[in-house]
Amino acid sequence: MSSKSRIRLFNTIGVRIALWYSVSVLLMLLVLGSFLYYRLTHTLNKETDRILFDESEFIVQSIKNNSYTTNDLLKLIEIKSSSKRYLRTSIRLYDIEQSSFIGSENFFFPDLEISADKMGKMVQGEQTLEKIWVEGLRSPYRLITRPVVIGNSCKYILQVGIYMRLSYKSVENMEENFLMSAPILIILSIIGGWLISRKNLSPITKMTETARQITGSDMKRRIFSSHTGDEVDELAHTINIMLDRIEESFTKIAQFTADVSHELRTPVASLKTGIEVMLSKDRTAAEYRKLLYHSLVSLERITRTISDLMELSRSDSGSNILHLKSFNLGNTLKEIQRKFSPVSDTKNIVLSNKEFPEVEINGDKIMLRRVFANLLDNAIKYTSPGGRVYISLEDRNDDVIVSITDTGVGITEESLRKIFDRCFRVDTSRSGETGGSGLGLSISKNIVEFHKGRIEVRSDIGVGSTFDVILPKNLINS
Ligand code: ADP
Repeated sequence: MSSKSRIRLFNTIGVRIALWYSVSVLLMLLVLGSFLYYRLTHTLNKETDRILFDESEFIVQSIKNNSYTTNDLLKLIEIKSSSKRYLRTSIRLYDIEQSSFIGSENFFFPDLEISADKMGKMVQGEQTLEKIWVEGLRSPYRLITRPVVIGNSCKYILQVGIYMRLSYKSVENMEENFLMSAPILIILSIIGGWLISRKNLSPITKMTETARQITGSDMKRRIFSSHTGDEVDELAHTINIMLDRIEESFTKIAQFTADVSHELRTPVASLKTGIEVMLSKDRTAAEYRKLLYHSLVSLERITRTISDLMELSRSDSGSNILHLKSFNLGNTLKEIQRKFSPVSDTKNIVLSNKEFPEVEINGDKIMLRRVFANLLDNAIKYTSPGGRVYISLEDRNDDVIVSITDTGVGITEESLRKIFDRCFRVDTSRSGETGGSGLGLSISKNIVEFHKGRIEVRSDIGVGSTFDVILPKNLINS
């Protein structure tokens, strides 16, 4: 395995999940092991102490209830110390008056002194429990020391000890078993984690494979969706929606490029043909003038398309291009209306308005002028002589509505759905005549949306159209 693929392997989510899985199993084992260790040692110690107490209590009561001679006491000690086969006790009795010990032969630590401190406790009737390590032994002794009070005075001090090998062995066995099973459990947890993660991540692997195959020329492929409704399925669904949108944009861009090329090719071709025809032989001054006039018309069309394209790309770059300022919308509409009056007069179209209310809005005046000018230009362009174009401004609480209504050709329902698409023109031959590039409404929609507003259209074929621009009054530049 090369070092690169090794790095990749350790970078995979599958391996990371498997490792995390085993780390958590290891932690669980540690917690469980510590708990079991604590419980076992605690129980064994408690049990040892209980035995010590029972054994010593029997001896204490025997001494109290019988007037034993030293020999009797020795016998009693020997019998008690050898009575348990596996849990032999070491017993010794200290006679306070005689300052001498009587003890079982097997007393584990014959030289063990009774300290002054312990003696003090015994006199007060207390008992002590302790662990004592004897050199050369693997486990300690547990020793109980308690007073034997006869009458009112403490006559003897009884010590009973148990070698704790059995308890320690049990704990050691548990530790051994635990240490032996831990690596097996860890390996099993790594394998389990790896298998679980592989199963859960397999849809992601499929997604990656499909995504690699999606290119600009093959946008039809979609990510596999398991329809399980889980997070991965949700991700696949979201990516597919995103791919739908990207494909749509790709198609639109391709269409747009083709439309723009066509839009520019037509006037350029007419310019070229005209000039070629003129150059083919000597022409009169009038013929040259005519060519120049036609060339100028073609150039104007090219210039308009280029300026529309520049405007579109500017408006595409986002709302951060807006220069917001408060201005009187009624006055602006009046200005635009005045600018278009000569055109409407020439076309014999009545251009009128309802009295505009005094409304101040916060917006980019130059851009919004472009929107209203475009709508008015269209209204006049697509209305036959003798028709009417009407502008109104309505002031509502938080927003304003500018409506431009015409009695023009109208737009079919199907075209209404595409009217804001780039380069869309209802009747291409007619628009060619009217000189439109099909970009005006697209630009207008962008500008209005940057102002957090919207454009709505209503239209009836042969009756006319109304374009409503709804704008918020107080757009805050954010
Ligand atoms: P253009 O520059 O071609 O006018 P627009 O984007 O402004 O481009 O308009 C797109 C198309 O919508 C126009 O070509 C025209 O067919 C249609 N249209 C726009 N406004 C009107 C209107 N007031 N009446 C009828 N058709 C309209």
